[in-house]
Amino acid sequence: MTRKFAGDRLLVATHNQGKLDEIADLLKNYKISVVGAAEMDLPEPEETGTTFVENARLKAHAAAKATGLPALSDDSGLEIDALNGAPGVYTADWAETGSGRDFVMAMEKAHDALLKSGVQPPWTGRFCCTLVLAWPDGHDEVFPGKMEGQIVWPMRGDQGHGYDPVFQPTGYGMTFGEMDRWEKNRISHRADAFRKFVAGCFD
Ligand code: IMP
Repeated sequence: MTRKFAGDRLLVATHNQGKLDEIADLLKNYKISVVGAAEMDLPEPEETGTTFVENARLKAHAAAKATGLPALSDDSGLEIDALNGAPGVYTADWAETGSGRDFVMAMEKAHDALLKSGVQPPWTGRFCCTLVLAWPDGHDEVFPGKMEGQIVWPMRGDQGHGYDPVFQPTGYGMTFGEMDRWEKNRISHRADAFRKFVAGCFD
């Protein structure tokens, strides 16, 4: 049985304003106030896990413990089958340059690795998103979401962020980078996890 969220304040363990706004919008009908990690002066814990669940758990429990509030975190990334699931939990790291993130470079890195693998297209893969709600008493609930698709080359579209221009979701002729934001947010890995979270902890 999934534990329900019973309070009136939810801490979202992210420093990313975009994620915070998205979550606040999703929960607007539930009469709870949503607080971000920056507002509570929380440090960003190191993501030392080797799976999305481990990293999301790490962030949610650290935030719940530090504040005494139930805390929600997410961890996401792109798994490419021909690369044995890489970049996976290291999706953001592949874009690291030492002076900020460069996602064009990261997408080129993924494409180079695919060519080197010798695997012929279609290059199947998926975006994954794991949401974890942790309570200060140590209990947590885990909600995994995904969107299947393939990696395409060259990059297409200038909407969205991250690896969107090389990811074409199954059943669509467009990449996430070509899709309007509303449509992407309706079908994405994050939407899938959010639906499970709301159904599990709120409805
Ligand atoms: P984190 O979950 O903030 O640790 O970062 C995961 C990384 O995965 C992000 O930096 C993005 O590069 C990538 N990612 C996650 N979701 C998406 C998406 O919807 N589109 C494109 N890239 C994504």
